[in-house]
Amino acid sequence: MKYYIIFGPPGAGKGTHSELLVKKFSFLHISTGDLLRREIAKESEIGKKVKSLIDNGELADDETVLRLIENVIICPALECRGFILDGYPRNLKQALELDKLLAKRGSRINGVISLIVDEDTIVGRIRRRALIENRKDDLETETILHRIKTYHTCTEPLIDYYKSKGCYYSVDGSTTIEEGFESICRIIERLNSEQQ
Ligand code: ADP
Repeated sequence: MKYYIIFGPPGAGKGTHSELLVKKFSFLHISTGDLLRREIAKESEIGKKVKSLIDNGELADDETVLRLIENVIICPALECRGFILDGYPRNLKQALELDKLLAKRGSRINGVISLIVDEDTIVGRIRRRALIENRKDDLETETILHRIKTYHTCTEPLIDYYKSKGCYYSVDGSTTIEEGFESICRIIERLNSEQQ
């Protein structure tokens, strides 16, 4: 089983590329944002707890997100070749928890693919997404900028963490989807063949 992280700021295209990777490699896409939004839609205990945090662009608590991740990683479908983690981990604590969870299963992160996109581009993309998807956290500029700031302070330090583990790869995320996807596929195909 392979475990890849698709990494980058909000609006970098993590969800878009994850969906394409699912089709090409028979991976399962795990988006913690989607898992949390599903809990909110169900009005579950978790959903009620995290709703206002997410709407306001704050992170959900580590414990809750870990529980959601554990549930989906534990029993994949038979045809599943691996996982694309999108939106997880988002801070060092989550990264350490993920390493522990995978180590228990005799696995590790095979690669972290980081989409590099400048701030103006991601703000523009999120604004366009706001017209299509009905996400409260995409509506206000202040909330969007707050999420980007949280990315810089909490999530970006993970780049050094994964670089030090030798599994960090960056891709230009400001190109067309096709070009970006081609670069991502080249990295995954190389890693898949090196790490049989
Ligand atoms: P984006 O990366 O574009 O902001 P996501 O769908 O990945 O969108 O995340 C939406 C929101 O869900 C985040 O702003 C945060 O509130 C919450 N969330 C997602 N993943 C995590 C996580 N790993 N830890 C804490 N909160 C999370």
